[in-house]
Amino acid sequence: MCVVTYHAANLYIKKLVELGFKVAIAEQLEAPNGKTLINRDVVRVITSGTVIDDAMLNADSNNFVCSIYETDNDSVVYAAWADIMTGEFYVAQFDNYDNAVSRIRPKEVITKKHFSYAFVYKQAVQTVKKYFNINTTQIFDIPENSPLINAAGALLEYLLMTAKNKLSNITKIMLVRDENFMVLDKIARDTLEIVSSYRNNTKAGSLLAALDKTETPMGARLLADWVTAPLKNVTMITERQDAIQELFDNSISCQALRAILDKFNDLGRFCGKVANGNVNPKDIINFTETLSLIQEVKDFIVQNCHALLLARLAGQLDALMELRTLLLNAIKPEPSTVLSDGGYIKEGYNQTLDELRNVGTLGKQWLLALETKERTETGVEKLKIAYNRVTGYYLEFPMNALKQMPYRFIRKGSTLNTERYTTDELREIESKILNASGEAIKLEQTIFGEIIAAVQKYIPTIQQNAAAIANIDVLSNLAYLAYKNQWVRPEINTAGTLLLESARHPVLENVLPTNEFIANDCNLDSENTTMLITGPNMAGKSTYMKTVALNVIMAHLGSFVPCNRANVSLTDRVFTRIGASDDMMTGKSTFMVEMNEVSNIVHNATKDSLLLLDEIGRGTGTNDGYALAKAILTYIIEQIGSKTLCATHFHELIELGHNYSQVQNYKVLTSSINGQIVFLHKVVKGEEQNSFGAEVAQLSGLPELIIQNAKKIMKERESHENH
Ligand code: ATP
Repeated sequence: MCVVTYHAANLYIKKLVELGFKVAIAEQLEAPNGKTLINRDVVRVITSGTVIDDAMLNADSNNFVCSIYETDNDSVVYAAWADIMTGEFYVAQFDNYDNAVSRIRPKEVITKKHFSYAFVYKQAVQTVKKYFNINTTQIFDIPENSPLINAAGALLEYLLMTAKNKLSNITKIMLVRDENFMVLDKIARDTLEIVSSYRNNTKAGSLLAALDKTETPMGARLLADWVTAPLKNVTMITERQDAIQELFDNSISCQALRAILDKFNDLGRFCGKVANGNVNPKDIINFTETLSLIQEVKDFIVQNCHALLLARLAGQLDALMELRTLLLNAIKPEPSTVLSDGGYIKEGYNQTLDELRNVGTLGKQWLLALETKERTETGVEKLKIAYNRVTGYYLEFPMNALKQMPYRFIRKGSTLNTERYTTDELREIESKILNASGEAIKLEQTIFGEIIAAVQKYIPTIQQNAAAIANIDVLSNLAYLAYKNQWVRPEINTAGTLLLESARHPVLENVLPTNEFIANDCNLDSENTTMLITGPNMAGKSTYMKTVALNVIMAHLGSFVPCNRANVSLTDRVFTRIGASDDMMTGKSTFMVEMNEVSNIVHNATKDSLLLLDEIGRGTGTNDGYALAKAILTYIIEQIGSKTLCATHFHELIELGHNYSQVQNYKVLTSSINGQIVFLHKVVKGEEQNSFGAEVAQLSGLPELIIQNAKKIMKERESHENH
C-alpha cells in the first residue's frame, strides 16, 4: 500500500489501470466533525473497461467492456458490450470468441471464469429487469430465455458493482441483428487492416484511418463501428448512398455542414459525465453551445437536404430549447471549472443566493431595520446594535431602561453602563453575515446539483442527438472523401456481378505519390467466379486482391469507392487466407494454421462470399501442396461457387483456367530493363510461367554468388525435368 496526493491520483490510476489492475476509490462520505470517526466507503472501482476520466480515454474509439457467454451445447457465443461514458449497451451473437472480440474491440472482457454467478440466467434476467425496470426483455426485442440475457445481466451486474449505481446514462439494450451485417472474422479484419495496420497495430495505415476525416468524436467512433461491421442489407446501403450522394453533389453544402460539426463537443461522453456527476459549470456552458449547434445542423439539413436518411436524422435532433434556456438562465457565460470556487450561478436565478452574495450591503440594511424595529417595540431610543470581534453582533441596552427589556432578549454580557443582548433575529442576521460567503458557495453547489439532476432527465434525448450527429458526421465525411478522392457511387446488385473498373487501394493510393498507384479492373459474375493470378513476388498480387476486397467492403458501408465505375454484388462474408503466420501461442505450425483457415472457409463460405486466397498449400512439400491447392480450389469452384481471387506460384494450377469455364487466368505484368525486373503492377488476362524468384531476390541485395548459383540450379532442374 502507498500514499499519493489526491490531485496526482489520476496519474497513478491511469498507470495502474493500463497495467491491468483494478483501482478501488474510497472516499469520506461525510464532512469531518472533529469528534467521531467519519464514514468512508468504496465509491467506484476503476478497471480498464470502466474508466471515466477523459484524460485516460481516446476520443476516437469507444471504451467497451464486454461480457461473453459461452455454453457447452451452442456453437456460437453471446456477447454484451457497453461504453459507460456514452451509455451504449449492445448485445449480439457471434460465431466464436475471437470474432466477437475483434468486432467489439473491448478494453476488458468478463467471462464465466471470473464472474460465474452473474451469468446464471435466473440471476441475469433479474438484474436486467430490475435495472431497466421492465417486466419483459421483449421490450428490447430480445426473447425471454435468450442466452443474450445471460451476457447482458452479467455485464450489468459488473457495471453496477464497479460504478456503484452511477449508470443513469445506460437507458436501453440495443440488439445488433447479424442478418443485417456482413461477416468479417478476426482473420479478415486483421489481414485487410480494417481498423489497425498489421505492422504496428495502430490505426495509422488502416482502412479506418483512410476513411476518417470525421469532425466529431461521436462520428469517429461510429465510423470505427461501420468499418468493423459493414452492412448486408441493400435498403440500408442504398439509404446511406443516397445521403452521401446528395452531399457529394453539393460539396459547398457539405463543407458548410462539416464546418458546423467541427464545433461540436463530445456529446456522447457528456452523458457519461452527467451520470457520474462529473461535470463542471464550464461543461454545462459548452453543452448549451452544443445545443444551439444541434439546432443549426437541424435547420441546415431541413433547408438543404432531401435524402431520406438525412431527413430522418434531422428529425431525431432535438435542440432541447427549454433545457437550454434553463441552463443559460442559471449559469454565467464564463464560469469557473472548479465547483468549490463558486461564482458560477447567475444573479437573479436564486433569491437566497443573491441575498447571501449581497450580504455586505444588505447586512447593514437588515441591522438598521432591526435596530429601528427594536427601538419602536421597546420604546428605548438609546438601544443600538453594535459589533466587536469577541462578542460578535449585539444589542446594547442602557442599564437604566432594563425594565423595558422584552423576555426574548438573551443576555450576552455587560459593560459598566450597558447590558449586551442578542435575539433570534439578530443571531440569524449575524450568522447570515458571517457565513454568507461560505454558504453562498455551498448553496451554489446545491443549485448546481439540481441543475445536473435536471440535465440527467434529458439523457435519452441527448444520446439520441449524439447518435444522429454521429451519423450525419460519418455521412458527410464519406461524401467529402468521395469528392476529394474522386470516388464513385457503386451500384449494388444481388445477381452476383462484381465489376470494378480502375480500382485503387484506398490506403495505398494516398500513401504513394500522385498517380503512382496503378489501377486495375475486376470482372466477375455468377458464371465467372474465379481469378487465378500468377506473377512474380512483389508484382502486386496481394495488393490487387486487397484492393478488390476493400472496395467491396467500402461499398457495403454505403461509401463511394475508389474506382471509375463499380457494380458490387451483395456479399455475405469476406474471407482471407493470406501469408504465413505461425501461431506459436497455440502451438500450431504454419501449415496447420493455413489448413485451419481453409477449413473454416470451405465450411462457411457461400456463393455470395468473397474469398481471397494468397498462396495455398505453400506450407508443405511441393507435391502435397500443389495437390491440396488444386483439390481445395476445385471444391470451391464446384461445390460453393464463391467469388474467389487466388494468387499462386503453382503454375500448374493454370490448367484450372483451361478446364473450368468459371476460372479465368490472370497475370501481373512485369518487364525487364537491362536484365533487371521492373514491376508494372498491371493485372491482365494471361499466364505467367516464370516466378522470377532469383531476379526479385537480387533486388534485395543478396550476394551475387548466391543469385548466380540459384539461377544455375534452376536451369539444371529445368533441363532435368525436360528429359
Ligand atoms: P508476393 O508474391 O511476394 O507476396 P505480391 O505480388 O503479393 O508479392 P504485393 O505485396 O502486392 O506483391 O506488392 C508489392 C509492392 O508493390 C507493394 O508493397 C506496393 O508498394 C507495390 N504495388 C503493388 N501493387 C501496386 C499498384 N497497383 N500500384 C502501385 N504499386 C503497387
